[in-house]
This record gives sequence, structure tokens and C-alpha cells, in this order.
Amino acid sequence: MDGVISRNISEGIRAASGYLTIDLTALARNYERLVKEVSPAGAAAVVKADAYGLGADRVATHLYAKGCRHFFVAQFVEALKLRPLLADDARIFVLNGLQPGNESDCARHGIVPVINSLDQWRRWAGAARAAGHALPAVLQFDTGMSRLGVPPEERDALAELVKSETSIAVLFVMSHLASADDAGSGQNESQLAEMQVVAAAFPQFNVCFANSGGIFLGRSYHGVLARPGIALYGGAPNVGGVNPLEPVVSLDISVVQTRTVRAGAHVGYGGSHVVAGETRLATIAAGYADGLPRSLSGCGAVYCDGIRLPIIGRVSMDSITIDISALPEGRLTLGSRVEMLGPHQTLEDVARDANTISYEILTGLGNRYQRTYR
Ligand SMILES: *Cc1c(COP(=O)(O)O)cnc(C)c1O
Repeated sequence: MDGVISRNISEGIRAASGYLTIDLTALARNYERLVKEVSPAGAAAVVKADAYGLGADRVATHLYAKGCRHFFVAQFVEALKLRPLLADDARIFVLNGLQPGNESDCARHGIVPVINSLDQWRRWAGAARAAGHALPAVLQFDTGMSRLGVPPEERDALAELVKSETSIAVLFVMSHLASADDAGSGQNESQLAEMQVVAAAFPQFNVCFANSGGIFLGRSYHGVLARPGIALYGGAPNVGGVNPLEPVVSLDISVVQTRTVRAGAHVGYGGSHVVAGETRLATIAAGYADGLPRSLSGCGAVYCDGIRLPIIGRVSMDSITIDISALPEGRLTLGSRVEMLGPHQTLEDVARDANTISYEILTGLGNRYQRTYR
């Protein structure tokens, strides 16, 4: 590519039509807030899925500088990418476990697998023998989610293997809560009770249990290390309550055209929206290809000067049409920006309108935005 063009694109000069700002200072304050909440336990950072779409490289190195030393990813490839960016005293854990064929690379790069089955334990023990020194691991137990981890009927067999194997250094026993975002769910207490059974069966090891929601369920859920993800990124840890975390992400989108249409005009694909009276419209430059779900069609909104501007008609791949009749004429012109995420509209607002959860909105945020880290 032409040098000037590529430089302009990398600097985002007039190239982007959406502006995603990631506030690393707010991220750090959220981390400190969570550390305070779980103290004297510690807090890891869950940076899977590119730190929920915000950039695992920037997020992890920033949190390392703020004292975080435990980082959880989902997949081995994510751990490999992160490993060279963090100093040796940072632990990187792979939640999805030890896949066949990854054993020696995992050992060589000092990555810690979350052991989810007897077979994974045996293969990791083999890798430790091959390496000629002890290897670290986390043991995960299924306490009621039926997703990952050693099932209850295999706990005793694992305890036997652990007893006879000195080549694996177990750092934690862990499990994951299925309903921690709902403080009223009885599933929290039953999983806690199961976790206490596990802890009693492996009394020599520390416990790692709470995700973001679990942190706010109280001390008994904290163990020695919590694993927040969404709360670091400003998402609400519990549904319904006040969100004690700060927003980290804001998203503004450029206007690419405005028009006034008469009563009866059809808007967007399928002509699914017909305007009742003369209406001023703006088309903004982001769509479902940028992670704004099609389910926002006809029910989401953006904001300008604090005024709600409803999305009308269907969300397109690259654009969305909004009703700007509530704004003074001339307020929005070509190149003006409207707020999709910011002081007037939270992640949870957009997620609710799209009939999904904040996690899916964050991890879906597209790569056509100009990203600015603050
Ligand atoms: C994703 C994940 C987390 C983080 O969950 P949040 O709800 O985002 O805090 C913690 N532990 C496990 C096992 C996970 O899969």
C-alpha cells in the first residue's frame, strides 16, 4: 500500500466513521475497586476474547503495571499471544484446558493449563516428567454448570492421582458460577456448597471461585483469588442493582447523510418502517458488520446533546438510520458524531435493546472503528 495512505489509515485520519475510546485509567480504577472488594483475597484479570474485545495486549499490560499478576484466557492460542507481552512473574491460565498436542508448548512457554479432566491431568503429568521439573496447574471442578471441569463422580479418582503425583504444582482449585449475575438465584448457594465440598477434599490447595458477579455475592465466594472479567470493562456485575464500576468504553458514530422525508416514506431494507409524518432522518456509518446487532432494528437509539434519537427501520451491514426530528434543524450535518455508548447510554442499555447481554456487545465491537486508548 502507498506509504501515505497506510500511515493515514493507521493514524485514523478521516478514515474511520466510528470512534471507539477505551479509557485505561477507568479500567485501572475498576481493577482497584475489585481488589478492594475482595481483599485480603487477590484479583486476577480475565482477558479472554481479546479482553472482551477491548484489546488484550493493552488491557493486560496496563493491569500488570497496576499490580495484576494473574491473567485468564480461554484458549491456548490467546495465551501464546499474551505470553511475550508480560513479564515472567505474570501467570497466564487457559480456562478451556489442555488440548491434546499442546502439552510441550504449554510447558515450554510457562503457560498454566486449567485441568478439566483426569485425562488432562495425566497428559500434564507426562509433560512434567518429560520436562524433568514440576509444572504448575489449576484444577477445575464442575459444581453445577455442567460445562467445564472434573465432574463430581471423578473427584475421588483425581484426589488419588494428585496424591501419587509430585510433578504437578497445583496453584488453585477452581469452579465457575452459572448465575452469579443474579444475587437472588439459589444456584449460587448450591454451587458454593459444592465448592466447599471440593475444598474439603483438597484442603492443601487454595480456592479460586468468583467471577464479577460472584465478587459481589460476598466474602464466602472470594477464595484467595477472584476472576473478574466484565466488571473490569465497566459492565454491571449483577442485574438490577446499581453498577459500582465505571464505564470504560465509549463509542461515537459519524453521520454520513441527512434528509427530510414525507409522511408514508419507507425506511431501510424491507421497507419495514413507514414514517407517520414529515420526519428528519440521519444515516450513521456503522451497522451489524461493526457489531451493532440487527436486533436493534426499530428499538435501539443513539444520543446527541442528551436527546434520544431512535433507530428506525432495519440495521444494515454498514449503516443505521435514526430519527433526528427531536434535534434543532442543522444540528447534525455530514461528519457530526452521535453517541452509541457513553454518558447517556450504557452497555447494558444497548444490550437490553438488542435483546442480548453486555458481554456480547463488547466482544462483537468491530475492527473498523478508530480505537483510542486513554
Ligand atoms: C469468562 C469467565 C470469567 C469472567 O466472568 P465475568 O462474568 O466476565 O466476570 C471467570 N471465570 C471463568 C471460568 C470464565 O469463563
